[in-house]
Parts: sequence; structure tokens; C-alpha cells
Amino acid sequence: MASSEPQSLSLRIKPQFDHNGEAHSLGFSLALECPSLTAGQSLCCLNTKMGNGTTQCYTKDQIHVSDSDGFLDIEIHDKGRMRSYLVNRPTTGNVVMNFVAHPVKVDSKTPIGGRYELRRDQGGLQCMGLSTIPIPWDVSLTTKARYRMEIEWDLSDAPQGTRAVSSFGEGRVQRVHPPFDLWRMVFTVGPLKSYPLDAPRGGHFGFYWFGKPPTSITALPPVCEELFAKMSNFFRDKASEENPYRIFVRRATPARGFGGSGGIRSFVLEYDDAIDTISQDEIFTLLAHEMVHNWPLMAADSKEDDLDLVAWYNEGVADYYAAVLPYRISHRTKACFRKHLNAKFTEYYTNPCRLVSNRQAEDKAWTSPNLQTVPYTRGLMYFCKLDAQIRRASNGCKSVDELVLSLLEKLRKYEPFGIREWKDMLVDVLGAKALEDFQTMNKGELIRLPADAFAPDYEVVRVDERELDFGFDMGSFSKRVVSGLNLTSEAAKAGLEDGDEIIKNTFVWQCQQNYERKMRMTIRRGHVEHKIEYWPRAEKMVESWRLHETKS
Ligand SMILES: [Zn+2]
Repeated sequence: MASSEPQSLSLRIKPQFDHNGEAHSLGFSLALECPSLTAGQSLCCLNTKMGNGTTQCYTKDQIHVSDSDGFLDIEIHDKGRMRSYLVNRPTTGNVVMNFVAHPVKVDSKTPIGGRYELRRDQGGLQCMGLSTIPIPWDVSLTTKARYRMEIEWDLSDAPQGTRAVSSFGEGRVQRVHPPFDLWRMVFTVGPLKSYPLDAPRGGHFGFYWFGKPPTSITALPPVCEELFAKMSNFFRDKASEENPYRIFVRRATPARGFGGSGGIRSFVLEYDDAIDTISQDEIFTLLAHEMVHNWPLMAADSKEDDLDLVAWYNEGVADYYAAVLPYRISHRTKACFRKHLNAKFTEYYTNPCRLVSNRQAEDKAWTSPNLQTVPYTRGLMYFCKLDAQIRRASNGCKSVDELVLSLLEKLRKYEPFGIREWKDMLVDVLGAKALEDFQTMNKGELIRLPADAFAPDYEVVRVDERELDFGFDMGSFSKRVVSGLNLTSEAAKAGLEDGDEIIKNTFVWQCQQNYERKMRMTIRRGHVEHKIEYWPRAEKMVESWRLHETKS
């Protein structure tokens, strides 16, 4: 075989079912064509932790490896969050790894996190590769190594009506990809339903779910299909059979959760029993954000000069285009656009963590929902400001779109697409001054927009607001017990006490984005449940801005 030809990677997945016909585990067989490793080299690797979620994190005993010479002994080497499986002798011929993945057990106290874990859902199973499948990869994201991937499902033990789908199609899929892409694929099997009804194998859009989701979910597929087609055009990437898009719905119950996690050409939309408290607009915002993740991306580099801090870009760009694109492509009304951006402005300006540096936000992201949202809203504000600056400097001929699309073009050409490249483009368009703005953004200084950032239709006007304040330690939301209560807060005035067990609460993001929103909680104290309601805002007024329609 010519050395330039990609090697093959074959993944066979066999779901196992219990006596009720419900899928309870996935048996994997991963075969690599002649990796030709020497003793001590890494065969595959897998994350040991993702955000606040868990991964399968197989031990040495849970992975059986063999090659042409038979049993292949491996060692485990953990570094940071990465577990590598090292071979103890040189490999001969093809190498096959066998392992079984079991869904994680969840309950109402399971923290809301990335939707990567293998979980049960109404008779089926769903996961993203990065929690479950070790891959032959230990170099940077820009690697040019490609594999001829083959994904096959063995449904020989499956009940009738079982369907098995991954991000690139139903049943057997063959494609060429870098190994990292396997981590970004969604895998699901069970009594799946879909839009289009039979989601034909050759189609380029599919929406999948288990059970009977509420109408706020089942009404989504045609809306998503249209939005996706329009966004694809904007990002110069026409959808096709080879370039499809799939949305996988997951019911979090008995755990809690509403949100999405983007994969490759796909995303996971999670909901729970509180879905009725979420408006169609709020669901749309999430969908649009997740869809944008298909395209613009900035690669993280070393910690030196903060080149690893790219969340402001990757999440900020998704928040920015989720707000502006649907309006531009006539998918949303003017009123929706203004409401959407104003919600984001409130979220940014009234966040008590708005002035932390990108480094602090990154390091502590999972300890507080207020830190978690920093890169999203800060990034969005940065893009709004940059767009206004570029339009002004170019007399309206250019916009921030050119920069974002250029960085995307670099990714497509396998050229570096990190902060260095971004800074070079900034200097080209706006001169060295743009680097100062970048640094102040990175340090966490407040971003203010020029009044005419959205002219001629809107004016950016200062309207101060009360700072967000839930009244207790933010970690209480994930620990499900109130601690660190501030006795002068609205929460304390409403009767909340330290030690109260949180049974239910309004989603934190709804209070972050909606200034008027009340926090409603059901708490348990002793054996008695209480309902508590308060406005999660401090006395303190902070600088905030809003988009007003200009009077014509
Ligand atoms: Zn995102």
C-alpha cells in the first residue's frame, strides 16, 4: 500500500439488551490497520474526565487487545486528563481492541454538564465518542493523519424496530477522517424515531429522538432544517449526502438538564421535565448557537502567551452568529433580534464575574455557572465591537465576517488557525491598536460598544441594572444543597436557609439572561418541602447597555 493512503480504522458496535428489550451496554471492537508500534508507544488514548462529566476510562483489565501475534499486553499512562494505552511489545499486523461501555448512572443530583457520557434514554443509549471510544491520537488537532473509518453496528441481538445511527448516517458508514473526529461523533441505538420519518440513509438532514418528547421539541425539525440550510450557505459549506447534519435529542430525566453539545456535523439537544418552562425562543437560541459550532473554530495552542485560551472565540462566535445570522437571513424578526441581543447584554453586564480574566474563567469554569458563561458573552461583545470597528474603518465594505471566514478557511486548508493567526488578521484590518483591545478583552476589562454599533436601525444606550445575585454559593446549584447564604440577599429575605436541599429550581441561565426573571425553588428542609421565590438581583446597580430602536 502506498504510504500516503490512509490506514483503516474499523469500529464495530454491538448493543446488548435486557429482558425488556432495553439497550444496557455497548460492546466495541476497534481494529487498527498495522499501526506498527514499538514497545512503550501509545496505541490509543481517552479522556479520563470531561468538564464535570465522567468518561468510560477503561482500566487495563477492561480492554482486551490483540494483534497478529495474539494477546497484546498494555500499560496505562495518565497525564492530566488524558489516559494513554501503551503497548508492552512491538505490534505485528492489525491490532484489535475489545471493550464494553456501560451507561453512567444518573439521578436528580447529577450535575448538568457536557452531553458526552453514555446514557440510557427510554430504551435506547446515546453517547459521544470522546467519553467512550479510545482513539489512536496524541498529536495536535491540526494533524494531517487520516483514517479510512468504517462504523458498523451488529443488531443481531436487537429487538425488532431497533435503529442505530451515528453522526454520519444510519447503520454502516464509511468515511475518511482524522481520528479526533471519532470523538466528536454521536452514537445512538434503540427504538429511535426520526424526522424525516424514515430519515433516509442518503438524506442530509436528520432529527432523532426516543419516546414522546413535548411539542416544543417535536415542532423543531423543519425549523432546524431550514436554518441549517441557510447557515450552511453563509459559512460556504453546502449540505449534501457527504456533508450531512444530524440532531440527536436526549431526555435527561431522572437527571436534570436543558442544553446542547455540538459534535461533528451533529449536536445533542438535551431536555428534562422542566422543558415546559422554556420558551420556543429560548430553545431556538440554543439550537442556533449549537448549529454555528459546525463551522468557525479556533485551535488551542500552548499556555505560553495564553494561546490556549480560545473559549472566548469558540463560544463567543457561536453566541454572536446565533444572534445576528437568523435575523440577517430572514429567519427571525427584528423584534426577536433585539430581544435576543438585549438578553445577552444583560447576561454580560450584570454577571458578577464579568471582570475576571479569561484565564480565571477557564480554570474555574465548572465551579460556577457565572464563570461558565464568561467566554460566551464576553466573546459576543468582543465580536459586536470588532464588527463595528471594521465597518467603520472600511466605510462599510468589510465586517467581522471576513475575519471569521478567513480563519475557517485556514482550518479547511489544514493551516494553523489559532490566536496567532487571529492577531495577524486583526493587525491587517485595523492596525496594531486592535491588539490592545484583544489584550484588554483577555484580561477581562469591560467591553463597551459604540452607540452606533448597530446603526442605522438601533442605538446602544446605557441603562444600568441590578447585578445578578442568587444569594448563596454558586456551587450550591450543582451540589443541590444551599451553602454560603448571604443573609442580606433577596434569597435570605424570601426564607431560604443554609442546608436547604434543592429539589427544583428555575434554570440559572434563564435568570442570567432575563432581567425580570424570578428564581423559583422547591427546597426540602427536614421532611418538609417549601416553595421559595425571589428576584435574584443585588441592591448594587451596575453599568449595563441596551439596544434601542432608533426613532425614524
Ligand atoms: Zn457552545
